[in-house]
Amino acid sequence: MERLISIVLAAYFAILAGAAQAHSEPEAPTEAPVLELEALLAAFGWDFEDAQIRIVKVADGLHVLFGLGGNIAVSSGEDGVLVVDDQFPQLMPKIKKALREFADDDVDVAINTHWHFDHAEGNLTLGKEGTQIIAHKNSREKMLTDNIVNLVIVKYDQKAYPAHGLPDVTFDKAMSYFYNGGEIELLHFGAAHTSGDAAVIFRKQNAVHMGDIFNNTGYPFIDAGNGGHIDGMISFCEKVLAEIDDDTIVIPGHGPVTRAPEMRRYVEILRTTRDRIKAMIDDGMSLEEIVAAEPTAEFNEELGAGAPNVAIYLDRVYASLTK
Ligand SMILES: [Zn+2]
Repeated sequence: MERLISIVLAAYFAILAGAAQAHSEPEAPTEAPVLELEALLAAFGWDFEDAQIRIVKVADGLHVLFGLGGNIAVSSGEDGVLVVDDQFPQLMPKIKKALREFADDDVDVAINTHWHFDHAEGNLTLGKEGTQIIAHKNSREKMLTDNIVNLVIVKYDQKAYPAHGLPDVTFDKAMSYFYNGGEIELLHFGAAHTSGDAAVIFRKQNAVHMGDIFNNTGYPFIDAGNGGHIDGMISFCEKVLAEIDDDTIVIPGHGPVTRAPEMRRYVEILRTTRDRIKAMIDDGMSLEEIVAAEPTAEFNEELGAGAPNVAIYLDRVYASLTK
């Protein structure tokens, strides 16, 4: 959800700027507005009609589809088609068209890295078609009810998933799925981005899909209102890094495909900034004072993080550490 937040914030600030020009004494918003999908997508500037699906082959039998929302990993081979994350029902015709470029467009299995709409709403189409859906048990639990996702400047009202969009299979700590001639390992190391994250390792191709625990589009979004925690982000990544090697292909939740060393560097930055923010909290500093002290400044350019992204990261790290 990371990249989206930057965009929505830019749109939101543009609206505020417009309001400021229109009124001589604009009032600052006191409460972030709660948006539903249509309004949120409009704010993101996301257009399902214009969206293009880009296909990148990362290894034999493993592709990544980039569209709108979370990156989709696709395992294809003799057993059929397995995807990790499935974006949106509105994009499914385009996703299927992309699949036909190298495989069948019947999706046999869909793994959700977590329950956020931009990663799992495609379940609504796939579930109806008989696709087997797999997720962490806490993600399925979250899908049973409406949830507010606090993106700091806006809040998103994520609706409960209908029965046909729910996972058929869940796991707790780890699960192995043997498919297309290789082991696909689902791992959960406690709450991180949400309370129900899964990292998915494709052992045959030496690749991993990290969901939103690892994004290389700036600082990560931590859904602290739904069990996410900065300490969990760090430890989850470290435990996955212990399972892979420097050559492992890393598919982030959002952003370009990379290798394990970039994720190791990301963890270093999270740890350094987390420790600084914790020390500031222990010194009695308020969130506003911490934002003003710019504890992330030296890393912002390296991560390509703009001001809204930094502000959201600081807010959610602060929320994690003061819960
Ligand atoms: Zn997410």
